[in-house]
Amino acid sequence: MERINVTKSFLPPKEEYQVYLSEIWEASWLTNNGPLVVDLEGKISKYLNTEYFSFLGNGTIALQIAIKALELKGEIITTPFSYCATTTSIIWENLQPVFVDINAHDLNINADLIEASITKNTSAILATHVYGNPCDVEKIDKIAKKYNLKVIYDAAHAFGVKYMGKSLLEYGDISTCSFHSTKVFHTVEGGSIVCHTKEIHEKVKLLRSFGHILDNYYIAGINGKNSEFHAAMGLCNLNHLSNIISGRERIFRIYDGLLNWKHLYKPTEKHQNLVYNFAYYPIVLESSEITSKIIEALNKENIYPRRYFYPSLNKLQYLAEYQSCPISEDISCRVLSLPLYPDLEHQIVEKICKIINSIF
Ligand SMILES: *Cc1c(COP(=O)(O)O)cnc(C)c1O
Repeated sequence: MERINVTKSFLPPKEEYQVYLSEIWEASWLTNNGPLVVDLEGKISKYLNTEYFSFLGNGTIALQIAIKALELKGEIITTPFSYCATTTSIIWENLQPVFVDINAHDLNINADLIEASITKNTSAILATHVYGNPCDVEKIDKIAKKYNLKVIYDAAHAFGVKYMGKSLLEYGDISTCSFHSTKVFHTVEGGSIVCHTKEIHEKVKLLRSFGHILDNYYIAGINGKNSEFHAAMGLCNLNHLSNIISGRERIFRIYDGLLNWKHLYKPTEKHQNLVYNFAYYPIVLESSEITSKIIEALNKENIYPRRYFYPSLNKLQYLAEYQSCPISEDISCRVLSLPLYPDLEHQIVEKICKIINSIF
């Protein structure tokens, strides 16, 4: 029995990648803002319709550079329901994460609860568009303006998502993205920052390459660059993106049609004015017991869904103190992301649905 994971990385036809490999060999330029990185940045800027886009080493360094570029201090209000990098990037910069609980319907930070957590030490809101569901960007923007806070969106799941007619990566002072091989669009490893001023854009570029230009050392930066080889994968994959997304949608709609909705709900596609990227197929079940039973039954068939996201990040053991987030803690124990990728066989999707429905 073939092992079925929650996702399978897309690979372009080898010949397409080989064309770029020949160019790399020809130019002998492997990294440090080479021609393929510049080309990829130009093409993605155009695709996103954004002026200030930087290609980075990964989605985690993107978060760290975002925090540095905005010179954040003290406390950052954040979501407990995300991948751990959202929280660890705050801790890594020696700042305090302040968790605000999520909405049960879309599992994003509950914007109505943010104001109560703002103190004189709050400098920013760092929220994730989880599964590509847009946060309440209008309300968050209003709160940020009122209290003079910066907004960073961890948009790692949001490449290809459009909200209100523009890319979801266009919101906030900075949106970060991940191009890790498990994401909808990938460059093997990779990440990015979208911002809205030339000043921040220049700072991001400086920070990603050690904070110096030739012999002028401006700020203490880091190595956040990416290579020609990674850019080449991005250039190949960008051409396949619309097919990748439509292939994912096909699988997504089979789940929609076959799962027994009396016993579960879907936290995705809860928003108006949304063009979705079908990044994940999470379901929220009635209890953690049922969730465990489903995992066990699927594992027996060599099928491996993932608990995206578990544990709730406010429960990470290395945090300075426990902050309660009852909704996130509850849902993280009964959420499951099901296998989703373009060439997943229909009969496997049918089998997964049958197994899940048989548990109820
Ligand atoms: C994948 C992911 C990251 C980390 O990105 P890397 O490129 O793996 O460093 C950060 N936040 C979220 C929400 C993610 O899903």
